[in-house]
Amino acid sequence: MPRAPKVIVIGAGLGGLAAATALRRRGAEVSIHEQAAAIGEVGAGIQITPNGVKALRGLGLEEDILRAGFRPQAIIGLDGITGREAFRTPLSDSTTMYGAPYLQAHRAELHAILLKGTAGAPLHLGARCTGIRTEGEQAVARFADGSEAEGDLVVGADGIHSVVRRTLFGDVPARYTGTMCWRGIVPFEVPDFDLVAPATSVWNGPHGHVVTYWIRGGRGVNIVAVHETAAWQDESWSARSTRDEMLAAYPGWHPRLLTLLGMAEEVFKWGLYDRDPQESWTKGRATLLGDAAHPMLPFLSQGAAMALEDGYVLGREVGEAGASGFPAALAAYERQRIPRTTRVLLRAREQGRKNHLVSPWARRWRDAVYFAKGLINPQKTGLGGDWLYEHDVAGSA
Ligand SMILES: Cc1cc2nc3c(=O)[nH]c(=O)nc-3n(C[C@H](O)[C@H](O)[C@H](O)COP(=O)(O)OP(=O)(O)OC[C@H]3O[C@@H](n4cnc5c(N)ncnc54)[C@H](O)[C@@H]3O)c2cc1C
Repeated sequence: MPRAPKVIVIGAGLGGLAAATALRRRGAEVSIHEQAAAIGEVGAGIQITPNGVKALRGLGLEEDILRAGFRPQAIIGLDGITGREAFRTPLSDSTTMYGAPYLQAHRAELHAILLKGTAGAPLHLGARCTGIRTEGEQAVARFADGSEAEGDLVVGADGIHSVVRRTLFGDVPARYTGTMCWRGIVPFEVPDFDLVAPATSVWNGPHGHVVTYWIRGGRGVNIVAVHETAAWQDESWSARSTRDEMLAAYPGWHPRLLTLLGMAEEVFKWGLYDRDPQESWTKGRATLLGDAAHPMLPFLSQGAAMALEDGYVLGREVGEAGASGFPAALAAYERQRIPRTTRVLLRAREQGRKNHLVSPWARRWRDAVYFAKGLINPQKTGLGGDWLYEHDVAGSA
C-alpha cells in the first residue's frame, strides 16, 4: 500500500475545492490555503454544463447540485437588434443525450457544495501564497505572514493571476482579449418567462453579445453583457459599474433585452483575459489547474467546468498513485487535461469572433448557417457544445 501523498492546495476557488475533494476521496492528506479572510464567491450566476455535472458526480456532489440548479429548456440564439431567433438547441432532454442535465445556479451555491466536499481538510484563510519552491521530492509553499507549508505536491489553483504559475513559469501577464463584460442579477418574486425564456438566451450583435439565464430556481436572472473595447484601464480585476453605463454600450438593441438590463440590481464590470495554451503545467513537485493553468473566455461557459474536470482528474491520478507515484501521476494528469482544455480555450476565442460580427450581411449569413444546421441536427448548431457536454471525466476512470 503506497503512502498517502500530502498535497498543499493554493486557492479555495471552484477548482481548488474540486481538487481537494477528489484528493481526499482517494485518501490523500490535503490542506487548502486561501488568501481571502472569509470564504465567498462573486455575486453572479454560473452555467454548469452536463460535463461539469458529471465531474461533480465523480466528486460525490451530484445530488446537491441537482437540488440547487435551474434546468433550462434550451440554448436560444437571437439577433441582438431584431430579436430574430437564429437557433434553438434543446436541453430538456440533456440527461438522456449527455448523461447529465445542464444546470444554472448562483456561484455561491456551487461553491458551498464544493466546500462541503472538502469537509475535514484543514482550510487556512488569510493565507496569501507569495511563492513556492520544489526540490527533489519536496514542495514548499511560502505565505505572506512568513509561514511555510511543506508536502509532496503543491497545486496552484490560485486563478488567473496565479502566484504559483508565476513562480514556475515566469511573470508573463495574462492577455487582455479586447472584450469586457458587465455582470448583474435581476431579482424576481415569480419568474416572468414572457420577458426571459426559461432558457439560456444568447443575444448576438455588433461588437458584443449578452447572455441571460435563470438562477436561484427561477428567482433571479443572471446577465453577462459582453462588449468589445480596446481600452481596459482599470487596474483592479473587477469594478463597480452602473445600469446606465451598461445600457450605453447597447444602443438600438432589442427593447425586450434593454428592459431586462434596466432592471439589474448591482452591476459590476470585468476585463476579460486569457492566455495562449501551454504545453506543460508542471515543474518538479508543483502543478496548476483551472484558471491558473488555462484562463479562457467565458463564451462557451466552460472555465469552471474545466476547473472541476481538472480537479477530478488530478485527484484521481495523484491519489491512486500514492506518494511514490510522482512524476508519472502528474504526466497522466497533463496527458488527459491539456489537449481538452486547449481545444476549449481556442474554440471560446472563435465563438467570440462569431458572436460579435458587425456587418448585417455577415450576421445574416451566420444566422442562416445556424438555422440550416439546426434543421439537420439542433444539438450541433449555435454554440455547438455537444462534444463538450458528452465528455464524462469520471466515467472514463
Ligand atoms: C463573466 C464570466 C462568466 C463566467 N461564466 C461561467 C459559466 O457560466 N460556466 C463556467 O464553467 N465558467 C464560467 N466562467 C469561468 C469561471 O468563473 C472560472 O473559470 C472559474 O471560476 C475558475 O476557477 P478557479 O478555481 O481556477 O479560479 P478562481 O475562481 O479565480 O479561484 C482562485 C482562488 O485562489 C485564491 N487566490 C488567488 N491568489 C492567491 C494566493 N496568492 N494565495 C492564496 N490564494 C489565492 C483566490 O482568492 C480564489 O479564491 C465565467 C467567467 C467570467 C469572467
